[in-house]
Amino acid sequence: MDKTIHFRIRRQDNPRSAPYWQEFQIPYRPEHNVVSALMEIRENPVTTQGEKVEPVAWESNCMEEVCGSCTMLINGKPRQACSTLVDTLTEPIVLEPLTKFPVVRDLMVDRQAMFESLKKVKAWIDIDGSWNVHTGGPRISPQEWEENYIYSRCMTCGCCMEACPQFGPSYPFVGPATLAQVRLMNAHPTGKYFRADRLHAIMGEGGLSDCGNAQNCVEVCPKDIPLTTAIGELGRQTTIQMLKDLFGPGR
Ligand code: SF4
Repeated sequence: MDKTIHFRIRRQDNPRSAPYWQEFQIPYRPEHNVVSALMEIRENPVTTQGEKVEPVAWESNCMEEVCGSCTMLINGKPRQACSTLVDTLTEPIVLEPLTKFPVVRDLMVDRQAMFESLKKVKAWIDIDGSWNVHTGGPRISPQEWEENYIYSRCMTCGCCMEACPQFGPSYPFVGPATLAQVRLMNAHPTGKYFRADRLHAIMGEGGLSDCGNAQNCVEVCPKDIPLTTAIGELGRQTTIQMLKDLFGPGR
């Protein structure tokens, strides 16, 4: 038999139905990534037992590890299907949806919880870009810019949330990615105006103190975002904010 690529895929027909497993084999081709292999399965959705089934559903968009939408468990590890090359994986290649978010169908999950957390901590800049271009806005040093840029690479993929033992549907924790965005927005010259609001949002239930310091998040982040450094910095920021709340003006 010609060389094949063997997949074992966890399927689920809808958010309420029970999951089940199916196996597929496609002809070997070098340099397949997981998305291109899934596309090939979709063209001919027949299991290794010869049963014709519904095509596997998954989400993908940018195909260059920027949008985060194709994140799934690949051989048990949260990562992007677009940038994971089949040749680097042991077989059978096991594909599963992320476990910390509700399954929509097959490998598609609903990551809305992440976006709700970002809203909760006001992870945006209200009036960015409104400075007069001739006189310029506040300046930041190249070093500060570089540090902030690393955090801005977050694509809300959910890998860090998946790896975090404190994050999940039954916990209120906003999760590491959200905390890193608080650190980023608080460092922005305009974002600083709402620094106290963001800090107050992570000083209560589900905030910074819910972090159990497992440090799994930083291990799995595909963008090498220094999540634990951000959490440490926010510890200092919230302590100062607490003292300000007690003894001085809030901002
Ligand atoms: Fe993904 Fe890293 Fe952002 Fe977490 S911090 S959502 S792992 S890019």
